[in-house]
Amino acid sequence: MSFSASSRQFLRSTSRAQCRSFSSTPSVGAAAEVKKLGVVGAGQMGLGIALVAAQKASVPVKLIDTSQASINKGLKFAEKLLEKDVSKERISKEDATATRERLTTSTTLDDLSDVDFVIEAIPEIPDLKTKIFSQLAQICPSHAILATNTSSISITKIAAATTKDPTDLSASSRVISTHFMNPVPVQKGVEIITGLQTSQDTIDTAIEFCKKMGKIPSKSADSPGFLANRILMPYINEAIICLETGIGTKEDIDSIMKNGTNVPMGPLQLADFIGVDTCLAIMKVLYEDTGDSKYRPAVLLKKMVDAGWLGRKSGKGFYDY
Ligand code: NAD
Repeated sequence: MSFSASSRQFLRSTSRAQCRSFSSTPSVGAAAEVKKLGVVGAGQMGLGIALVAAQKASVPVKLIDTSQASINKGLKFAEKLLEKDVSKERISKEDATATRERLTTSTTLDDLSDVDFVIEAIPEIPDLKTKIFSQLAQICPSHAILATNTSSISITKIAAATTKDPTDLSASSRVISTHFMNPVPVQKGVEIITGLQTSQDTIDTAIEFCKKMGKIPSKSADSPGFLANRILMPYINEAIICLETGIGTKEDIDSIMKNGTNVPMGPLQLADFIGVDTCLAIMKVLYEDTGDSKYRPAVLLKKMVDAGWLGRKSGKGFYDY
């Protein structure tokens, strides 16, 4: 077989492996029970994941963040959400109390030594993610699933960081992406993305656990931006280019998309909601990993991050909060 024919065959089988169906094809793996969850990062995603897991999947959750201020802010927000759910009679007072009791916090990763499943939700910075995964592989039990909430970074690359020996799959086969959508308590969708190393047992356990959290999983190949952000981020980036080139005001850009496509927010409001820094990080991965100029981040997007105008979380973005 010629090199190009054999590499074509490799690519076909690789992409088949990465797109393994979990709905129509009988599974050869086995979903393990998740009795305890760890969540790393208590920002808007990590807090939402921890809260929904404690509430809907009824598992004890250890929420870790290096910043005690982030933990305090997150717990305050969780309290607000629980009180709202009780006042609207969506849950009972007893359910809210049980959820609070299941959610504990810590500032050290070492407290994840007894979890069955961990979900990482720290900032979208490749070096930060790979460092955390090499630590998680050492700290978590040898059966624990190591999931990332990354919006765009290669799962294969994150999995590779768990070992110095690429032939040793004992940790890397347990790495997967459970990419939750924002806000986690509201959005049902979750993208399941596998790396080259991910085992079928890992896929099955991740899917079952996401379903237990009340989510609807979709699968995506390990490709820059996966599905959701491959489609969403160029849309937001284009809206920013429309703003910086004077095609429309921010109000007009958001108004036409909100009222013209029946979505709850326009693209600039959505960028502020997601985090302007997160949007830039995802566009950079799309641009650098594909080498395609159509993904060039808008100049204004970069300037906004330089200014610290990160959206709702910093009090100023395209709008003031
Ligand atoms: P965020 O900035 O709100 O929160 C990140 C948290 O991680 C902060 O509280 C920070 O203190 C903490 N942190 C930083 N370094 C840490 C470390 N080494 N150990 C423990 N904690 C650490 O970010 P976010 O919006 O919650 O995003 C988190 C992840 O989820 C990113 O990968 C992002 O791409 C992804 N994501 C975001 C959205 C969104 O709409 N914001 C949606 C889907 C996925």
